[in-house]
Amino acid sequence: MTSAAAATAATAAPAITTQALADAVAALQPWMVDTLSALVAAPSLSGAEQAAVDVFEQQLRDLGLAPERIAQDSAAIAGSPLFSCPCTPDNGRHNLLARHLPPEGTAGGRSVLFNGHLDVVPTGPEALWSHPPFAPRVADGWLYGRGAGDMKGGLVCALAAYKALQTLGWQPAGIVGFNAVVDEENTGNGTLAVVNELQARGPGLTRAMAQARLTDFDAVIIPEPFAETLMSAQVGVLWLTVTLTGRPAHVGYMRSGLNPIEAAHAVLADLRQLQADWNAPERRHPAFADVGQPININLGRLEGGEWHSSVPCTATMGLRVGFYPDEDPDIVRTAVEARIHAAAAAVNADLRVAISHEGFKAPGCVYDLDAPAMRALADAHQAVNGRAPDRFASTATTDGRHFRLLTDIPVTNYGPEARHIHGLDECVSLASMQRVATVMARYLVDWCGVVAR
Ligand SMILES: [Zn+2]
Repeated sequence: MTSAAAATAATAAPAITTQALADAVAALQPWMVDTLSALVAAPSLSGAEQAAVDVFEQQLRDLGLAPERIAQDSAAIAGSPLFSCPCTPDNGRHNLLARHLPPEGTAGGRSVLFNGHLDVVPTGPEALWSHPPFAPRVADGWLYGRGAGDMKGGLVCALAAYKALQTLGWQPAGIVGFNAVVDEENTGNGTLAVVNELQARGPGLTRAMAQARLTDFDAVIIPEPFAETLMSAQVGVLWLTVTLTGRPAHVGYMRSGLNPIEAAHAVLADLRQLQADWNAPERRHPAFADVGQPININLGRLEGGEWHSSVPCTATMGLRVGFYPDEDPDIVRTAVEARIHAAAAAVNADLRVAISHEGFKAPGCVYDLDAPAMRALADAHQAVNGRAPDRFASTATTDGRHFRLLTDIPVTNYGPEARHIHGLDECVSLASMQRVATVMARYLVDWCGVVAR
């Protein structure tokens, strides 16, 4: 949108008090609980998200929106610098994009895209949960269930903000997009697929894509559960799968064997040293100067061995490696691989090492929170909460990188408070969801402008 058009909408925006918005959102609390519960009750592990996609598609329709499906097509995005090798097949999966369009003839207001993921991570042993992870329940102001915090709750906040305006008789004067993606938790290829489609030009565009070009959006907000902070930066993330092959033997002749599971411990110990080196103050990216331990190297999976009384043949390590913004993932990968090869060779030169690369190859980034679109979000937070939002440098990756690194659209993460994400008894604060939804409603009014429904 041109700034002149935006100014027209802004000055035309009626005086809607923050209290009126907060009251409208508060009245939607039962609806928010029901909507989030329905999403949590639809299990959607990365790679198998269809149940939640179907639920969200209907929820968008119930708001009067017309969601479009954007295919998860790895071949179409494989050339992107932000493409990560998939961990699961495309399998006909799709992302959802719905857009509110202002009425014909409305002076163009500014626009915003809310982007969130519907996939969730594995639950771990369900017996360790206080209640089944896909049976949502509310207790003491928190809604429990896998995905409640990360990040179905944030998506519901965005819907609630839009619905709150509707209940007050208003609608945004600019385009408001709701984008729900798959595959965020292991590659980010869902959002990449959408960005790729929205950037597409020329023949072959579908009708929906031609209408919903990414340049239609003046801001992107990703409501990941970072406790109502504005994200200032995020680390890069690499996944590596390392298979060590030793020499199996009867345990009675153990010294003739070569144990790759024990070697994996030596490799991990060396990576711990690498982690310490990268966290040293002089090695840090300035955006992470004040973060306790920005670089985390995690052994998330370890598999190997066949028999208590056999020296094992193989050990497979699933590793997640963090690194700083401005570092090239390929260079980081080469350095980490060299380190792993050297550590394994130090154990025993006969140890064989194979490394594969399914999953994240995600550069880090620093967000521009001084962009007008982001300052407007901070202003909306201030209006609702009476103080400026804290800024947060994330030691995890988010889909914000796709917008930050592939487009010039201002973007950040801003979402509700959650607990135990990726852990047991994950939950999201309903009070925080209300505040976030109110901030988003304030943002829609002030950033996009509104017109009567
Ligand atoms: Zn998330």
